[in-house]
Amino acid sequence: MDLIVQKFGGTSLQGEQSRRHVLRHIVRERAAGRSLVVVVSAMGRRGEPYATDSLLELVRQNGNALPAREKDLLLSCGELISAATLCSLLTAEGIPSVALSGGQAGIVTDARFGAARIVRIQTEAIRQHLKEGRVAIVAGFQGSTDRGEITTLGRGGSDTSATALGAALGASIVDIYTDVDGILTADPRWVPSARQLPVVSYEEISNMANNGAKVIHPRAVEIAMKAGVPVRVRSTFSDGEGTLVTRSETIREKGVWTDRTVTGLAHVSGVTQLAVHNDNGPSELQLRVFRAMATHGISVDFINVMPTGVHYTVSGADTDDAVRLLRELDFEPTVRRGCAKVSLIGGGMNGEPGVMAGIVEALTTAGVNILQSADSNTTIWVLIAESDLAAALQTLHSAFGLHLA
Ligand code: ASP
Ligand code: MG
Repeated sequence: MDLIVQKFGGTSLQGEQSRRHVLRHIVRERAAGRSLVVVVSAMGRRGEPYATDSLLELVRQNGNALPAREKDLLLSCGELISAATLCSLLTAEGIPSVALSGGQAGIVTDARFGAARIVRIQTEAIRQHLKEGRVAIVAGFQGSTDRGEITTLGRGGSDTSATALGAALGASIVDIYTDVDGILTADPRWVPSARQLPVVSYEEISNMANNGAKVIHPRAVEIAMKAGVPVRVRSTFSDGEGTLVTRSETIREKGVWTDRTVTGLAHVSGVTQLAVHNDNGPSELQLRVFRAMATHGISVDFINVMPTGVHYTVSGADTDDAVRLLRELDFEPTVRRGCAKVSLIGGGMNGEPGVMAGIVEALTTAGVNILQSADSNTTIWVLIAESDLAAALQTLHSAFGLHLA
């Protein structure tokens, strides 16, 4: 029998109206004869009673004093509440279902509280429930160690629960239901002509997610990709099919990439560019700079190492620390705050000449200065001033024809 995983995010579960929509998707798939595993997030967003951020607020008054183990106990409650609430709705509608904690669903993790990794999934319990005709509702974002300790997977982890269950159960698809219609070519708040993509590859979506697009958790994509389980990102509140995420080979076979070099744009703002120059001859500058950043837990990006020095970026929040460390090493860095990193992502750009030329031409015409650039086989990154972000995204979006249906 066809088995699918449906994952519903916090906004899909907040309020009775939304949960009616959730019900609609469950009823439809059941009517089509499918076995369902439904993974749920905590209800709502910050400020709403059972949202993960609201649970965290409960201990803020004590200066966040709570051991990691107990913090996971607290955080796991949000998803449990969602699972039980949805079970009650299904029961009222005469749909047999069971609500399971991550541990009860067989999700076994290591013991890194707050950032646990799934080590295996024991699927017997879920399979038995499905066999007996129940919808298995699983609390996302959590698991349990071999010793029965409750763990959580890190923020945004219920996507990971969903694809991991999909992979372990051999699901035909994992549907990620959310409050947007699918994956867009760019953030519509910056690019009004952004449009929905019918299909993207695992690599593309993971590059988008890693470069600032908040669509799906990168680890969830990694797991789906490894198992080859197709994923769909779609809206709870409509009947649209959303965006299919699948193997690049499958997309290539369908011919989608014959005319698509760039699939989408992503961006991160609030970035600081640091440049350290090597004016005093050989000084192991590169080694000393990056070792200092590493030992102080500062994540570096956009790294350019040259004989004459280094260029790299840090997040805005790390700027003061990074500059202080460099000065302590007797370096005088050039600091440029307020930068944005724009990523052009496309599985079809691999080996295609002219993509960088197109970028430079578009940005130059729009009067946008490129501060730094880098590339891989499926992504080109440019660093620009944040004040140029709207112009850059919009001009790149139209230069690569992303506004065309
Ligand atoms: N509720 C958790 C969070 O807010 C997990 C999730 O929503 O994916 O991070
Ligand atoms: Mg979420």
